[in-house]
Amino acid sequence: MLLRHTPEKLEEREALTIQPAKTCQPVGAMYAALGIHGCLPHSHGSQGCCAYHRSALTRHYREPVMAATSSFTEGASVFGGQANLLEAIQNIFTLYNPDVLSIHTTCLSETIGDDLPQIIAKAYDEGKVPDGKFILKTNTPSYVGSHVTGFSNMVKSIVDSFGKKGPKGKHINIIPGYVEPSDMAEVKHIAKSMGLDAVVFPDTDGVLNGPQTGHFEMYPRGGTTIDNLKRIGTARATIALGPLASGPAAKALDTSCGVPCELLNLPIGLSATDDFVSALRKLGGVVSDEIEYERGQLLDMLTDMQQYFHNRKVALIGDPDQLVSLTQFLTDIGFTVRHVITGTSGKKFIKRVTDAAGTEDMNVREGSDFFYLHQLILNEKVDLIIGNSYAKYMSRDLDIPHVRMGFPIYDRVGHQYFPTAGYRGAMRLVEKLLSALMDYQDKTVPEEKFDLVM
Ligand code: SF4
Repeated sequence: MLLRHTPEKLEEREALTIQPAKTCQPVGAMYAALGIHGCLPHSHGSQGCCAYHRSALTRHYREPVMAATSSFTEGASVFGGQANLLEAIQNIFTLYNPDVLSIHTTCLSETIGDDLPQIIAKAYDEGKVPDGKFILKTNTPSYVGSHVTGFSNMVKSIVDSFGKKGPKGKHINIIPGYVEPSDMAEVKHIAKSMGLDAVVFPDTDGVLNGPQTGHFEMYPRGGTTIDNLKRIGTARATIALGPLASGPAAKALDTSCGVPCELLNLPIGLSATDDFVSALRKLGGVVSDEIEYERGQLLDMLTDMQQYFHNRKVALIGDPDQLVSLTQFLTDIGFTVRHVITGTSGKKFIKRVTDAAGTEDMNVREGSDFFYLHQLILNEKVDLIIGNSYAKYMSRDLDIPHVRMGFPIYDRVGHQYFPTAGYRGAMRLVEKLLSALMDYQDKTVPEEKFDLVM
């Protein structure tokens, strides 16, 4: 009902966000850390922050997310959290025995200025870190950036900790970007099918989409192993999928270990997946019959269905790397992308989107919010909204079909298990788009036009 009060008149806002289209940095840092096998994320701040980060991930993935916290109270907030973190490090290795402890900060510990490198060095000096165990650290102040920035920071900290220079091997690295566990599985499937030995990191496949076994596993079987992480510095090359989420880590590995990197858009849709496959081919991968078959199936599906997409107007809201690939795919298959909004700030975002769409005749905003998208749609209606679960309010109020994609999705399942990346993922995406449009048509079409076939 509150949405009825959204004014159509667009006004510039600088100091006010209404219904943010992002969440906070530690959520992304925690998600990236869970992609390492045997890793326990640790939130250096108050219990409330950690509870929020865990619950955001648990509600999206419907899996228990384990994480520890420095449990700041008033004392730590005033005098600093060093004592809390030192005690936490000792307790965590004694009680929970992770292979890796990944520590990220929060707004509070950043504001009081806790020095993570110094505190962690002290923990090593005092013998609180057992031999053979690792500590990752990253700064994730949430008054800047978003969950994507936090993810990116944590992936870079993986490189900083595990990237060691050495003679080059035959393997390659793939940084899959901030995507679902199912998408990481699809990236591995493509690389494997092309005969490449690829270290994919982080890798939440098998961590946040595992089977129901009846047994609680503190550290699920998935995730990039330490042995594989120790190989990233000796890889022949790195493919970074999603420049914002994966680019800084790939560039850091290039600088520190001389592993050349190629930055690509997320392989969502036909042409972006073609680019990914082509990059793998240049690194010695062979396009297998399996990959060719999957691509052919997607092409067949698109040929059959494109007339239903032609000139349909669509609004997108979500994370930058996803939105760029999505814009390109939707444009390729006939949609007219009208509004694209991300809550994450990034100067290059607008150009990346307009380049992907092949036009500047569209509304693109970075660092914006759901309220602004609502205003845009009030001014120019669309046939479809693609965004996370929060877009459902707008969808209901404006009577526009909604396809859920992005983070978080709290009211549907499947994103953990079924990819949107790769050729098979694009097929699922097309199915979802078409179902949303056809369901709406069946619901609203006049009786005399209601037909059994499309
Ligand atoms: S205080 Fe900062 S880190 Fe904690 S939940 Fe809020 S935005 Fe996130």
